Amino acid sequence: MKFVDAHDHVVARVDVTGASEIEVMRGDLVALVHQASEGVEHVFGDAVRGLAQDDDGVTVAFENGPDRRFDLVVGADGLHSTVRRLAFGPEADFVQHGGHYFAFANADGTLGEDRWVTMLNRPGRMAGLYRSGNHAQAKAYFIFRSAPIAYDHRDVGAHKRLVRETFAHETGWRVPELLAAALDDPDFYFDALSQVRMDSWSAGRVILVGDAAWCASPPPGRAPNWRSSGHTGSPESWPPPAVTTGSPSRAFTTATAASSASGSRSART
Ligand SMILES: Cc1cc2nc3c(=O)[nH]c(=O)nc-3n(C[C@H](O)[C@H](O)[C@H](O)COP(=O)(O)OP(=O)(O)OC[C@H]3O[C@@H](n4cnc5c(N)ncnc54)[C@H](O)[C@@H]3O)c2cc1C
Repeated sequence: MKFVDAHDHVVARVDVTGASEIEVMRGDLVALVHQASEGVEHVFGDAVRGLAQDDDGVTVAFENGPDRRFDLVVGADGLHSTVRRLAFGPEADFVQHGGHYFAFANADGTLGEDRWVTMLNRPGRMAGLYRSGNHAQAKAYFIFRSAPIAYDHRDVGAHKRLVRETFAHETGWRVPELLAAALDDPDFYFDALSQVRMDSWSAGRVILVGDAAWCASPPPGRAPNWRSSGHTGSPESWPPPAVTTGSPSRAFTTATAASSASGSRSART
């Protein structure tokens, strides 16, 4: 990892070689899981609109398809989870603003030095570039400090406008090239750095996992690494699985209590 000045002179380096991790892009992982899950029903182009649960199950209303009945609903729908909103309450009750916004996009592979992260820091702003071994394209990213901004998190045009306005006057290093590439990318990503904090990840027969339940902040990620109790650390230190019969709600409450007792709630900090 290296830090450069406006003239592309390296001002500092941090050696992170030797890390034992392999990077798999999210889209590649999704494709692999999709291929490996033959026999599982996948519904595309639809979304959950409503949840109504009783003692025997959950009736799920969809935006496009007919209502369906399930024993259990697992919300794995990310930081802005609809399942969380429907079963637990408004996003503002659980998502805490981290004081920064983050954009991430594809960039020309020739811009990025293989296996290097390079970044330019300015007060309140940062632009960076990285390319990891097996990917032809480089990744450009932009971070800026800001109090919460009101915008629609699905409005990519608004996201691009915010990043363009913030970095428009930055002419140092490769920022203009990176900005142009990012604004041209249909897969442009933008969001606030946020944390999800919840007292419980279950509400009856509805549970949350991943970023929906315990997003630590998007870029550091690792939310899916933590098993459904939100537990970190080695498997030996995990609490024993909670076993109950007849009531999913009781099982989830027992599991959460067991996790808390073993200190796993530190995953939330
Ligand atoms: C730029 C960036 C870099 C990252 N780098 C790393 C990294 O290096 N290492 C790491 O461990 N983590 C990283 N993360 C974090 C990691 O990507 C997340 O923690 C992880 O993707 C969370 O997985 P998830 O399945 O819980 O949610 P998501 O991956 O967000 O998946 C949620 C899914 O639900 C779908 N969805 C949402 N709402 C609805 C709806 N209403 N109806 C239907 N579908 C819906 C979404 O389309 C999406 O497919 C990074 C994140 C970002 C943004």
